[in-house]
Amino acid sequence: MGIKGKIVALVVAAGSGSRAGGGMPKQYRQIGGRPLLAHTIDHLKHDRIDIIQIVIGEGQEGLFHHAVGHRSLPSPTVGGATRQQSVRNGLEALAAKGGVGAVLIHDAARPFLPPDVIERLIEALDAADGAVPVLPVVDSLAEGNGALGAQVSRNGLIRVQTPQAFRFDAILEAHRRREAPADATDDAQVAREAGFQVATVIGSQSLEKLTYEEDFMRAEQRLSAALVSRTGLGFDVHRFAEGEELWLGGLLIPHDKGLSGHSDADVVLHALTDALLGAIGEGDIGDHFPPSDPQWRGAPSSRFAEHARALIEERGGRIDHVDMTIICEAPRIGPHRDAMRQSVADLLRLPLSRVSIKATTTEQLGFTGRGEGMAAQAVATVRVPEDS
Ligand code: MG
Repeated sequence: MGIKGKIVALVVAAGSGSRAGGGMPKQYRQIGGRPLLAHTIDHLKHDRIDIIQIVIGEGQEGLFHHAVGHRSLPSPTVGGATRQQSVRNGLEALAAKGGVGAVLIHDAARPFLPPDVIERLIEALDAADGAVPVLPVVDSLAEGNGALGAQVSRNGLIRVQTPQAFRFDAILEAHRRREAPADATDDAQVAREAGFQVATVIGSQSLEKLTYEEDFMRAEQRLSAALVSRTGLGFDVHRFAEGEELWLGGLLIPHDKGLSGHSDADVVLHALTDALLGAIGEGDIGDHFPPSDPQWRGAPSSRFAEHARALIEERGGRIDHVDMTIICEAPRIGPHRDAMRQSVADLLRLPLSRVSIKATTTEQLGFTGRGEGMAAQAVATVRVPEDS
């Protein structure tokens, strides 16, 4: 019969619990340098899914917008006191806009959704009102209350995951009819209780829910293992001029002259920004901040370095290490070096141990030797997902 109308992924991200630690609702906790919810959203990008609608907790708008970043998503729906109420709010919001064809109701805490599960679920809706991904139970089951009790047969038992797919009209009706006080643990049971037929498809180990600290650590390792290392190189030169300030590594350095340029001419941060952009194949600083654009006149170069850092983070990458060499006869860099390292570490949100700054002269040879200008080199080592 096929689905008529749009297919929406409805992601329940309304929890306020922080059982897994980390001090904030777990759907906003960082893994691999990004909030958990961002991973969940990215795994829902699929040809068959037209809209990704998120249900957030009350007062979580700020966290939501931070997690979503540059991704263009409809405004979130605000959830209720229970998971069931949150799903209901999401469904009603979709109904108020005229309804859709089908909905995949998903938990934000199951970020690593494989595309083939999405395909199996949608296909199953051809013959059923709903479909859920399931896995067999592999561990032995037993009763237990402090001491081991009798064995429970695992015959015929399955583990039920999300996303759970439904024809929209069916799941909306099921939720509207269910006024039972007890919170349903999942939507498939709500649908079943209302008499709708729910099929099962093969789920995935990758869909395990992140609940405990250990789950987050495993997710972190999984993401790290999938990253590849890249290196970027940067080089920059600026000319000395009277009456200019000298900015190096984001710090104002006292000196009798400064560097001239369109922005604040921070030669160190320019080389660094180019190294970071180079590591992800994102062109150079001039592509992102054209000197022809008056808005960058006198701009602090910290903005350029922060932009490059954000680009790396947005693609799920991380900066492992940066190393810079400053080339000049004067001023002496030594007295400022530690402060400069700290400044760069703060800009890139890295521990000090991953930032190196060195200085050298050119033995009074060439333009740096004659004190006409300064040069800087930078190298950045980053890790990014293989396909980015
Ligand atoms: Mg420059």
